[in-house]
Amino acid sequence: MGRSLLSWYAQQGRKLPWRDNGDPYCIWVSEIMLQQTQVKTVIPYYYNWLDRFPNIEALAAADLQAVLKAWQGLGYYARARNLHRAANIIVTQHGGKFPDNLDAVLDLPGIGRSTAGGILSAAFNQPVAILDGNVKRVLARLVALDVPPKRAIDRLWNLSEKILDRDSPRDFNQALMDLGATVCTPKNPACLLCPWRSHCQGYNLGKQSELPMRETRSPLPHKHIGVAVIWNDEWQILIDRRPQEGLLGGLWEFPGGKIEPGETVEDCVRREIKEEIGIDIEVGDRLIEVEHAYTHFKVTLHVCQCQYLSGEPQAIGCEEVRWVDINQLDDFPFPKANEKIIAALKSVSD
Ligand code: SF4
Repeated sequence: MGRSLLSWYAQQGRKLPWRDNGDPYCIWVSEIMLQQTQVKTVIPYYYNWLDRFPNIEALAAADLQAVLKAWQGLGYYARARNLHRAANIIVTQHGGKFPDNLDAVLDLPGIGRSTAGGILSAAFNQPVAILDGNVKRVLARLVALDVPPKRAIDRLWNLSEKILDRDSPRDFNQALMDLGATVCTPKNPACLLCPWRSHCQGYNLGKQSELPMRETRSPLPHKHIGVAVIWNDEWQILIDRRPQEGLLGGLWEFPGGKIEPGETVEDCVRREIKEEIGIDIEVGDRLIEVEHAYTHFKVTLHVCQCQYLSGEPQAIGCEEVRWVDINQLDDFPFPKANEKIIAALKSVSD
């Protein structure tokens, strides 16, 4: 099986920028970016990242705000914070060289077993298996797995280890990822082009499109958030920095909070700003409503234009608050959902 996949890869494998060099740093960055993001989105970010932080020392020495700014738009910002933390650990504990043994790699923040396998096989040609989302799907189809992959993780890891080609682990793992991304796709797998067709139980049973089995899911919770764009008399806007830990940690945002049952958007905004920032505001017109989906919930941001009235802004529920001019907003890393607010603000103030 390994041979047929490798010869398919030699002809059909994707040309990807991080495959051109064996630099573990570049491979590590690409693996982290690819964890929750598609290749075509990652490529420009990857080049931009290497321009800004060309090696581990440069990343370790960078300011976290600059790192988050370079990540802006990729989502799941914990990945950027972990890259930064890990770069510092590599500099202090490994002399600036990316470690080449599994335990040391797994000790770095943000690197789980599959990412470690991806890095060690790609950078050092070590026979360490992988099991990312694409690979789970391919393997679940290959053996016609009769439960959702989440309930058979150990079996899938064993299978990934068993089929790994020990002579060419680098190419084998890359080939497996490519097979999942280009042939054994989530919808309409191109089985007629697949080098594993004759071994594939899913295909042989005609079940390839029904696999992998899915967990029955309850609908995602939906949160409604009141958000304030607060102006002062100098035409500046108040922004705050979220706590480092937790969702979107360290990013800047327009202040606000969850609308309580029975509360209007305006009442929520007034209350939240008093509780979180300690100031009084007059709530004005609605600016925009922004819908955004995270992995485990959806939000609707109800955004109001507000006028500062009194009080000294304090960082009560956040790390820092600042008054900024509208044209300074682009200098701060904001979550994706806030980018639409900035665009709306710019369009009304043009
Ligand atoms: S034969 Fe089809 S279902 Fe099976 S591994 Fe290949 S593409 Fe996937």
